[in-house]
Amino acid sequence: MLHLPVMSKKYPLLLAAALCAAAPTLRAQENLPKLYSDASAQWLEGRPEDAAEALKYVAYRSTDPALTLSALKDLAVLLAEAGRNSEALAYLAKAGILAPEDFYVQFEKGWNLLGLEKDREARTAFEKSLTLTVDQSLASQTRFALSFAEARLSGPAQALDRLRSVYTRYPYLLSPAARLMGFYLEKTKKKKHAMYFVKEALSYDPRNIQAEIELARLYEKAGLNLPAWQTYFTLSDFDPEESFFSKKVKKLAKYVKGNTGDLLYWARMAWPAHRNPLKAEPGPRVKIGLYAGRGGVPSLVTGFSFIVTAPFDVMDTRLGRILTGKSNGQLKIVYNETNHLYELRDNSGSALHTTANSIRIVPKTEGAVILIKSPQLPDAHGVNRGDKEVAGELLVLSRENGFWLINETPAEYLVSPITASLADRNKLLEYLKAVAVAVRTRLTWLSASVRHESREYQLCDSAHCLPFPGLQVENEVSAKAASATRGEILQTGGAVAPADFHLACGGVTLEGVNDSGRPIPKLTPFGLYSRTVEPPPDTLYCLPDDKTTGSEVAWTLLLQPKWIESRLNRKHKIGYLKALVPLARETDGRVKSLRADGTAGSVIIEGAGPIVQALTAGTLRSTLFSIRPIYRGKHPEFFILRGIGTGDGAGLCLRGAAGMAKNFGAEYRAILSRYYPYYKVRKVR
Ligand SMILES: [Zn+2]
Ligand SMILES: [Zn+2]
Repeated sequence: MLHLPVMSKKYPLLLAAALCAAAPTLRAQENLPKLYSDASAQWLEGRPEDAAEALKYVAYRSTDPALTLSALKDLAVLLAEAGRNSEALAYLAKAGILAPEDFYVQFEKGWNLLGLEKDREARTAFEKSLTLTVDQSLASQTRFALSFAEARLSGPAQALDRLRSVYTRYPYLLSPAARLMGFYLEKTKKKKHAMYFVKEALSYDPRNIQAEIELARLYEKAGLNLPAWQTYFTLSDFDPEESFFSKKVKKLAKYVKGNTGDLLYWARMAWPAHRNPLKAEPGPRVKIGLYAGRGGVPSLVTGFSFIVTAPFDVMDTRLGRILTGKSNGQLKIVYNETNHLYELRDNSGSALHTTANSIRIVPKTEGAVILIKSPQLPDAHGVNRGDKEVAGELLVLSRENGFWLINETPAEYLVSPITASLADRNKLLEYLKAVAVAVRTRLTWLSASVRHESREYQLCDSAHCLPFPGLQVENEVSAKAASATRGEILQTGGAVAPADFHLACGGVTLEGVNDSGRPIPKLTPFGLYSRTVEPPPDTLYCLPDDKTTGSEVAWTLLLQPKWIESRLNRKHKIGYLKALVPLARETDGRVKSLRADGTAGSVIIEGAGPIVQALTAGTLRSTLFSIRPIYRGKHPEFFILRGIGTGDGAGLCLRGAAGMAKNFGAEYRAILSRYYPYYKVRKVR
């Protein structure tokens, strides 16, 4: 028999039911399936507490066991998410009576017991759930869960045993399993092995920021100062305001010899990769702000070297030509902070000219390439500081305390390199043709929209617009794809498409294009949660052939609360983090707003950007996730985020498009019409 739920103003019927056992007319009028689907709607709208009340009511009133069980499972998910483990367990106990053979009821029981530090009972529940499934993925998820109980009950060696079987068998938990193995190996004093596994965690999921933090710590502890400095530098680049990281960078910098800019992961090139000029391009020209940060503003540059593959003029924008340079000679432009002037220097460092004005570098041959080398960006964060080839002209725009680099170039020159970098070494022509049309369309759309405060440029080279690493990244196939689709863009009724794209949808795109080959189940709290626990279907278009590289499609993170707290407490007062409760979700389940409950207060974080920033300093793959706190005592030891896909799901699914080309031999127009159903490919002059 179900307990009477807490009395609710919203459900006066409860009162009636409690006072008057025989209320046949009222009961006949109730539409419980509708109430149940209303509860899901409330949950999606961002009212999980109201949804929980409605679900309690449905579970209490329903005489249909299937409906009752669904409501109980949804309730358990909502309560566990909010860290209300005891309450979740009460409803799971009822569900267990209705469905003693249900895998998830036992599995969830285990997690909630673990949160209450009832480790022995948690282990029993997990072990029972193992006997209720033949599905190897669910078994692996359970062994992963068991490792936590085992670590607490028997120690790290036993936890390692459980994890090893997950690590060797189940691709979708590779990264978190490797990270935990590193953690337990360190506890058993196997430091070298620990470091190996934490590196593995990062190679299986380069966006596992918690593994990056662990690795930095392990490097430092082992006295590996250069890699420790590099790793902390990377972390500080993600999260410049985190003083823990910036202090480590400062402290470790004294052990690092040589030019620090060359010791990081940015491309350094001795010579331009393009020795010959690009084909002359009469199409529209754009101005692109280089070395832009996340906000789309170019970083301040204080110096750089450059090589031009043709003779060129260096122009003072007010006074005219300064000099004519020879092809393939190296020059340097430096900001002198003592007199606030710009100096043009030769390769030996002697000043050739000094000016207070902006400078233009203008090749005399159209399509000649300018290689920008070793840019000095003293205040930049989260910026690719690699050397960069551009064509067209380069403007060194005078700013306070330095300059901006702005490249004026035919837009078409950007299509091939951006296509190559998005395709990430894939060389299937039809796939690259599809991407090239999407890139050209997106460039056209972006150039026409006002996206930057400054009028000095229309586009930037960061993810704010389209990441442009330089012409050097293009390859033969991307060039062929760009020229084969020359002039083609996506339009509808004369209007250019925004042509969004993302890396991997993981199932369904925002426009509802289904990459999974399965019908999409109705979205409920439990439905979404179980989708994040289960593996992606094998038929998924965007799933790589090698499933060990599947973190783009299915990912799991174990996040320590202290870093999230630190980010949140910079702007809000929340104290210690207790729970992270997703509120509103998109119709496809993506989190739109999230409440962080802390010991000193709560804050609501609105929008994908701020959510990704708060949880992982910008490294989170997507906002389609479920989240759970796992308590140790009063505070969460970590949050488990289980997520689907990479990117916002809008427009073209890049990996899905690659899958279509590879597995079905799809032609580029078929790919484009599938992902952009409202637009047609048109050739424009
Ligand atoms: Zn931009
Ligand atoms: Zn996809």
